[in-house]
Amino acid sequence: MKRAIPFARPSLGEPEVEAARRAILSGWVSQGPEVAAFEREFAAAVGAEFACAVSSATAALHLALLAVGVGPADEVITVSHSFIATANAVRYCGALPVFVDVEPDTYNIDPNQLEAAAGPRTRAILCVHQLGMPCDLAALGAFARRRSLPLVEDAACAIGSEIQVGGAWARIGRPHGDVACFSFHPRKVLTTGDGGMLTTGSAELDAGFRRLRQHGMSVPDTVRHAAPQVIFESYDTFGFNYRMTDIQAAVGREQLKRLPAIIARRRALAARYREGLLGCGAIHLPAERDFARSNWQTYAVVLDKRLDQRMVMQRLLDRGIPTRRGVMCAHREPSYPDGTWRAAGTLATSEAIQDHGVALPLYAEMTDADQDAVMAALREICSGAD
Ligand SMILES: *Cc1c(COP(=O)(O)O)cnc(C)c1O
Repeated sequence: MKRAIPFARPSLGEPEVEAARRAILSGWVSQGPEVAAFEREFAAAVGAEFACAVSSATAALHLALLAVGVGPADEVITVSHSFIATANAVRYCGALPVFVDVEPDTYNIDPNQLEAAAGPRTRAILCVHQLGMPCDLAALGAFARRRSLPLVEDAACAIGSEIQVGGAWARIGRPHGDVACFSFHPRKVLTTGDGGMLTTGSAELDAGFRRLRQHGMSVPDTVRHAAPQVIFESYDTFGFNYRMTDIQAAVGREQLKRLPAIIARRRALAARYREGLLGCGAIHLPAERDFARSNWQTYAVVLDKRLDQRMVMQRLLDRGIPTRRGVMCAHREPSYPDGTWRAAGTLATSEAIQDHGVALPLYAEMTDADQDAVMAALREICSGAD
């Protein structure tokens, strides 16, 4: 079996190697000047006032929910149809995730379900820009304001995605809610090996993230290091070790420089998938609403119910084309027994997309020829059901 086409591949090269080398030889390898520079450059890239680097998007989600006041006995409205980190972050706070269903063509939270999900214990809304596709922030924001609820965006996949606000395009991460959380895991568009970022327009929230990522320490290492006098730190709030290292941040700064080219190529490849698969009745394609421009972190299609997901994926793999099933549903996992979550209505669409979704190979260096081979194989395997 030949496996010529990878499913995904990070865009890393000599500039990242040089950056890591620079950080290592500087003598300062934990959270320090490279992290500070990465935060400034990331904030500028997404149009945010504040950016705070952490060890992962999971850590970012945890800090974001804590910072907006989520605690034990609270409820957070979110989706089950996401990577499990989304719902896990709610449970880290001792709170209960309340799952609402998603839209069948964007795989994003259905804003019409919010009303049914809200109750006296609702403390926040945690929306997800699934696979990089911006969710309906105008509708979510209006609901959140009406109920005086904070809106946290799980933007783990959405670096470089855009949304139309008041007639102009803006990057995800300004943020449009209260906080946005990004991931630099290698499966995302930019990578630092692992890593995350919180963006916000609130100086107060940003200061809170900075304390919590470093055990609630009153003085950062960098300040103590540079001070001419002796400083004793104190630990004023109960916190965590969620630091990013300077080696990771140095790599991240190089990754940011690649962002425009990566997004342009991903959008071109997504357009080619759409064009090449549009005529296949057995394959439902993802929709991009008028207000949204995805970074296409993943291009996932949904197969017609007459096709068997595993059979289609196996037959593609037999031809050297690896795929992944679409997004999972947290509520179906053994780590989510009864009592650890609540659903507001049916989650039928979430489950159907998990059972019939197929994520296709996509990465910035993918050639047109490789993509044509993927589409030809998929069309052929699915043609029986047309
Ligand atoms: C990847 C992902 C996360 C977790 O990101 P990490 O950086 O690996 O912690 C959270 N939410 C969503 C939607 C993701 O896709």
